[in-house]
Amino acid sequence: MLVGVLALQGDVAEHRAALAELDVGSRPVRRPEDLSGIDGIVLPGGESTTISMLLESSGLAEPLGKELVAGLPAFGTCAGMILLASAISDGRPNQRCYGAIDLVVRRNGYGGQLDSFECDLEVASLGEAPLHAVFIRAPVVESVGAEVDVLAEVASPEALAPSGARADGRGAVAPGKEADGSSTPVICRQGSVLAAACHPELTSDRRLHGLFVSMIAKSVRSND
Ligand code: GLN
Repeated sequence: MLVGVLALQGDVAEHRAALAELDVGSRPVRRPEDLSGIDGIVLPGGESTTISMLLESSGLAEPLGKELVAGLPAFGTCAGMILLASAISDGRPNQRCYGAIDLVVRRNGYGGQLDSFECDLEVASLGEAPLHAVFIRAPVVESVGAEVDVLAEVASPEALAPSGARADGRGAVAPGKEADGSSTPVICRQGSVLAAACHPELTSDRRLHGLFVSMIAKSVRSND
């Protein structure tokens, strides 16, 4: 198995190291020809507007889109989630999103850099141990399509005051549901596409990358 890691911006080395820990080979993807022969692709975080521009200037924008339509398994983290989404509610006019997973996302929906946070997520499909998650200017998932499985949620950002402090004064976003039941998806899956608002490459827990690798192993490409 060979996994491409989009290498225009962001934690390319960290994602490749995570895959190597799982004994999966990877290749940085910088040009259209780098797409050939890969079995899946990771879209790292960074700045989705910048990555979008770099996709155009590198010539990757269209060929990557064709691969995704053909069923190339994809794992997008943070800005990568934005790129895979079907709509960006506050995107720049020429910002690209591929519609590989049926999500509407809002950039920086939890606030700016100072509102970045970490928390433990319950992810039933990864087992009982919580998944420690790092959120950096993360997108908020505003809606999910009927085909999307929500693997993990946090309390709704509506529980946050504009400053990013919680309206209830507790200071940090807690995982799970608010008392009123409101919650926001942060890890989602649709078929062979996985999207996370957090940065799993920054922690030592490899279960999310492992899930993606198992999704690749099970996927049947429409162009195979
Ligand atoms: N806020 C960034 C964006 O809109 C994403 C941040 C990240 O990837 N850590 O693209």
